Amino acid sequence: MLFVVDFDGTLSVRDTVDAMLERFAGPEWEAVEQEWLDGHITAVQCMQKQLRMVKTDHVTLESFFRGIQLDASFLPFYKHVSTFANVAIVSDGLDHAIKVAMKNAALPELPVYANKLHFVPDGIDLSWPHMNPSCSGGNGTCKCKIARDLSGGDKRVVLIGDGKSDACLAKEADIVFAKGSLIKYCEKNNIPHFKFQTFADVLAKVKGWPHQLPQQGASA
Ligand SMILES: [Mg+2]
Ligand SMILES: [Zn+2]
Repeated sequence: MLFVVDFDGTLSVRDTVDAMLERFAGPEWEAVEQEWLDGHITAVQCMQKQLRMVKTDHVTLESFFRGIQLDASFLPFYKHVSTFANVAIVSDGLDHAIKVAMKNAALPELPVYANKLHFVPDGIDLSWPHMNPSCSGGNGTCKCKIARDLSGGDKRVVLIGDGKSDACLAKEADIVFAKGSLIKYCEKNNIPHFKFQTFADVLAKVKGWPHQLPQQGASA
């Protein structure tokens, strides 16, 4: 089994990019965000435009990333599921921000698949190592392709997410845990899903699954 865990708004309490724009960019970023939500521009175009609006130095950004607040119930969730499953953080956000925030919270070093952050004078830039032009999702990091690559097609895939960047994988995953706008997306597209608020909710559900037992099947 493979757990694909979204970062922004799922493992982190708030969306990191939104919080960063509120703090370091002018208010114009919100109009760009609306263009994306309305489907007029892709996630990649949106992030490119928005991140150019961030005006601050490297040291300030590092300190901001260390301050990203995470869901405290992720660690007990991880400790449980890692006994029988793989866990990957797959995000259409910023790889470096995720790694800094997780390290600062003393979480284990997990595989992270996300857009690549580069520091430039007075701001940041991005590159897209996990872009997939053949996916209609239009995201910088295509979660459906990463899940296929990591699962090798034979592991069951569990998606835990909250937003638009989770949509392409929600259609393919075996099990979906949804919050935020992903709930509406699942309802609209008849995708069965469990609603959750924190990883404590996910853990409570997973503990009831028979296939969490690593020995199951081996002794049958
Ligand atoms: Mg998210
Ligand atoms: Zn995709």
